[in-house]
This record gives sequence, structure tokens and C-alpha cells, in this order.
Amino acid sequence: MGKHSFSLKTIYLAALTAVFGVSFLAFAVFDFYSQQRQTEAALLEEARTFAREMDAVWQFMDNSQSVINNTSDGTYEFKGLHCSLVGKSVGRLFSAGSDYAIRYTNFNPRSEQDIPDEFEAEALERFNANSSVKEHYGIAEYQGEERFRYLQALEVDNSCLSCHGEPAGELDVTGKEKEGWTLDSVGGAISIVIPIDQQQQTLRDNVIRDVVFFLGITVFIGAVIYVVTTFFVLRPIGGLHAAFGKLKRGRMDAELGGGHAAKEVQQLVGGFNDMAGDLRDMYEHLESQVEARTIDLQEANALLEHQRDKLEKLNESLEQETRFKSDLLSMVNHELRTPLTSIITFAQISRETCDPGRESDRRSWEEIEKNSQILLNMINNMLDIARSDAGSIKSTCEPMDLGDVAASVKGTMAPLARKYEVSFRTRVASDVPLVNGDYEKTLRMLENLASNAIKFTPDGGSVELRVAYDENRQVVTLSMVDTGIGIAPEDQERIFERFFQVDSTSTRKYNGSGLGLALVREYADMQGFAISVESEVGKGSAFVITVPKRLIVGEDDV
Ligand code: ADP
Repeated sequence: MGKHSFSLKTIYLAALTAVFGVSFLAFAVFDFYSQQRQTEAALLEEARTFAREMDAVWQFMDNSQSVINNTSDGTYEFKGLHCSLVGKSVGRLFSAGSDYAIRYTNFNPRSEQDIPDEFEAEALERFNANSSVKEHYGIAEYQGEERFRYLQALEVDNSCLSCHGEPAGELDVTGKEKEGWTLDSVGGAISIVIPIDQQQQTLRDNVIRDVVFFLGITVFIGAVIYVVTTFFVLRPIGGLHAAFGKLKRGRMDAELGGGHAAKEVQQLVGGFNDMAGDLRDMYEHLESQVEARTIDLQEANALLEHQRDKLEKLNESLEQETRFKSDLLSMVNHELRTPLTSIITFAQISRETCDPGRESDRRSWEEIEKNSQILLNMINNMLDIARSDAGSIKSTCEPMDLGDVAASVKGTMAPLARKYEVSFRTRVASDVPLVNGDYEKTLRMLENLASNAIKFTPDGGSVELRVAYDENRQVVTLSMVDTGIGIAPEDQERIFERFFQVDSTSTRKYNGSGLGLALVREYADMQGFAISVESEVGKGSAFVITVPKRLIVGEDDV
């Protein structure tokens, strides 16, 4: 909430007070002046009426002069009842004993009583100065009190001239000197004084009455606005505020009744109720979701625990198996390989030293040597695969002469080929460059391929290792080509899988473990070589190792 914010009640009260205060002042001033104007207008009208009456008296006397001053026999006898005397006398009579005064005045009066006072002199000056000005009035002092004063100019007509006209100084019918007036002179003024106490009292009363009425109306309007606002706006908003407070404290059951609220506030309340309902639903949904998730999590947790127990057991048994495997491998390595190597060596010696006349002995020794050799090869393959799985085989990458490798293969394989009565040849092209690779692994690959080729080639067949440089593709190829039993197309990819053998019956016939080609592919991958096979059943097979250009020594420098 803002630091300087005020409650709606305070704002309302302040605004109402300001509006009513200003309008009250404006009304009071306006009312006072309008009442004053009305009073003045009424006084003016009254004064004018008096003036007209006095004028009528004057006119009457003027018209009656001949009747008054002529006797019945037609003799003129001035009675002294001239218009001025009668007018002034009527005025004096009227004024006597009342606060009203009616009199005649001019600058050179014949009687001292008619000498103008200050207000009258001011009026006479105006009349003399401007013949179109006929009236002068206002509130002014008269005999020490505020009165409404009115002066009307007396115009000189022919009837006036007999007593006041030219020549000035001549004695008129009353025996007084004439003033020498002409028709355009101002003959003085009728001066009327009207008391204003009564009117002022009435004005005050009227203003007070109006002000009280206005105050009453404004207070009433203010009270109605206040009550309406309180009942229809402020209270419902207060309720809304309290309900928001409840929501904030987490009480989702907060709900509001419309009550006496105004339509707009009711819409607000409706909006709040909708929002509170949505929140409630969401909250409940959330709670049930949380519950469901908690149960799911607990179940998942239990499952995980169970699986962890299972994995731990599995791990234990795997560890046992691994221990057993490594014990077995070291046992195979020491307990089988060593005696087998001895057996091969002794069989070889015995074969070479046996009596040439005893062919059957020689064949027996040869059979022992051949099978032991196959057995040793199988054991070696098995150990190599196990080492590769354990990640303990590292491949070197050094320049090697493939001619040397081929010669070495020939040295190892020639005896076996001879025993299988298969011819074994190597053909190394003269332009074969050095290649980068692992000599031992390449040798093992070729020995495996050669041993397979010899095994699966019937007596009298041939096996050839060709090492060549393919100028077009700029690769070196090592091909083990035989004229053996061949491999069906559907088996050609699978033979590189571990333990895969085309025909288990033939396995028994040919001996083997199904690990040789798997090892060949692993060694090829290790060195960056590619291995592929082309074969036709009954005609023979060609296993081709391709050494890419980047591994050819000198090629990548070009
Ligand atoms: P094995 O120890 O059985 O020789 P390999 O992985 O070396 O295992 O060979 C897998 C299978 O591929 C062999 O059992 C054989 O059926 C087939 N095979 C491999 N080389 C040849 C080949 N030169 N001629 C015919 N079949 C072959």
C-alpha cells in the first residue's frame, strides 16, 4: 500500500467538504447580492411611486391656479397656494412623524430648509452636467442613519417660468425675486428618503433562511452519499479485503456473499468468488496430485531398492564370475598353453626323428602336432579375446614391411598346410609400400585367416596370401584366397560374430571355437584396417584386409 494513500472514507469526506464549502460560499455571496438587488429594486420602485405622486400634486396645483386665484366674478386674487408651496407642504406633512421624507431642493433655494445636503448636491450636479440623467439614488446617510435616497430632476416647463423665469431679479407674484430660469434649466429635484431597517432585516432573514436551507440540503445529500457509499461500496470492499486476507493465510474456504453491494462491486465479489473457487480446485487437485506423486515415488523407490538389491547380488555374482574367469584364464594360460607348446615341440621332434620305415608312427606324430597346433591357436584366440574385453590389449602403430609379415605367416602355416595336404603360397608385389600398424596383431590376423583357409579347403586345394598395392584406390590389400568350401551369402556378415560357425556339424569335422574371425575384425578395427569377404559356396573364399591410404607410410606426407 502506498505511503500517502488515504481511505476512501477520508477522501470522500474531504472532497464533499471542499465541494460543499465552496458551493456554500458561492451560494451565500450570490444569494446576498441577489437579495440586495431585489431590495434595492423594490425601494427604487417605491421611491419612483412617491415621486410620481408628488409630481401629480404639483401638476394638479399648477392646473388649478386660475380656479384658485380668480373669484367667481372673474377678479384675480392671488391666494398664495402656488404649486411649490403646496408640493413642499404635502411633502412635509407626509414626512412628519415617520422615517420617510419627501422634499424639494435646488442650489439656490428660496427657503433655507431646501438647501441640498451632500448627497442631494451630488445629484443636482449630475443633473446640471447631463440633461439626460433624470434620477440619482443609493444607500446614503440621512440624519445620522443609513437610508435609501432617491432624487428625481425637476424639469422647468412654461408654468414654472411665471415665478422663476426671466428676467432674473424681478419680483414674482409671491413677492420673491425670480431666478431667471429658462426651459432648459434644471429646476431642482424631488428628494425622497426611505428607511431601510425593515428591508435590511428582511434581507438578512432571507439570506439566513436560504443559507440554512442550502446547508440542510447539502448535509442531507452528503449523508445520503455517505450512507450509500458505506453500505453499497465500502462495506463490501472491506469484506473483500478480509476475504483476501483469509486467502493469503491459506484459508481456501474464503467465499463472499453479494449482500447489498452495488452492481460493480457485486461483479468484483463474483470475480473474487470465481477466483477463490479456481484456487480451491487447483489446490485440492495439487494436493491429490502431490499425494499420487508421493505414492508413485514411494513405489518407484521401493522398486529401485529392490533392483539395487538385485544388482548388488548380480554384481557379487559377476565379481565372482570375473574372478573365476580370470582364474580360469590364468589357469588356461599356464596350465594348458605351456604343456601344449611342449607337446607340439616333442611331437615335432619325434616326427622328425622317427624311423623313416615306420610311416604310421610319423603320421601319428603329425596328427598330434596338427591338432595340438589347432588347440593352441584356439587357446590363443580365446586368451586374446578375453584380454581385449578386459581392455588390456594396446595396439602399436609403427611402420612395418608386409613382405616380412607374409614370410612369417608362411613359416608358421606351411607345416599345417602340408599336414592338410593343401598348397600354401604367398605372393607379395614388389611395389607394396611400408604401412603403419601393429606387426604382432597383423601377423595374428593373417595366421587366423590362413588357418581357416587351410582348415576349410579340401585336400589338394590351394591357399594363397596376396599382398598388393592398388594404385587406383591407393590402398594396400592383403588377400587370403582359398579354393575351399566357400561361405553362403547370408552367413558372410555373421561369420565375424563371436562363436558363430556356419555349420556345427562341420565344426566337429573342422575343429574350431568361432572366435578367430571376431578377433580378426577387432584387430582390424584397432589398427584402422578394413576386413571384408567374398565367397562362393563350393568354389572358395577371399578374405581381404584393406590398409587405407592414410596408414601407408609416405602417402599422407604427399
Ligand atoms: P573357427 O574357429 O570355427 O574357425 P572362425 O571365427 O575363425 O571360427 O570362423 C567362423 C566360421 O566361419 C567357421 O566356423 C566357418 O564356418 C567359417 N569360415 C571361416 N573361414 C572360412 C573359409 N576360409 N572357408 C569357409 N568357411 C570359413
